[in-house]
Amino acid sequence: MSDNEYTEQSYFTDVTDMAVEIREQHKACGSDFEESDVLHEYVDGSSWVIYYARARQVLEYSDNDCAIFEELGPQQWEDWGTAFCQAAFFAMHRDVSEALAELPEIETCDDCDASYNEDEDHDCPEAEGDED
Ligand SMILES: [Zn+2]
Repeated sequence: MSDNEYTEQSYFTDVTDMAVEIREQHKACGSDFEESDVLHEYVDGSSWVIYYARARQVLEYSDNDCAIFEELGPQQWEDWGTAFCQAAFFAMHRDVSEALAELPEIETCDDCDASYNEDEDHDCPEAEGDED
């Protein structure tokens, strides 16, 4: 991604892509996977919360720009860079959480332990054994 892509569209594309990537990882890893465990790392590593200029844009684009105050209460900062980056982290964290909530849930089959999207048909290999 180039430096001039600080647009609202590119932000929300990245939010959605991050949610999809986390959900795909969940699907690959199965029922023991906790999305919330990796969500923190994903957002923490995003250029949107690392770079001051981008973090400022996140707070302009996100409806969750005040999430940090709801999570942590009043804040005290000594410089704008820290303020914007920390506030952007909480905003993006909540934006990606909301994007995840829009995606199909992952189901895990009790018979064969396979994971699949809730809106997919699961053609279970174990089910054939039930036919006499
Ligand atoms: Zn199955």
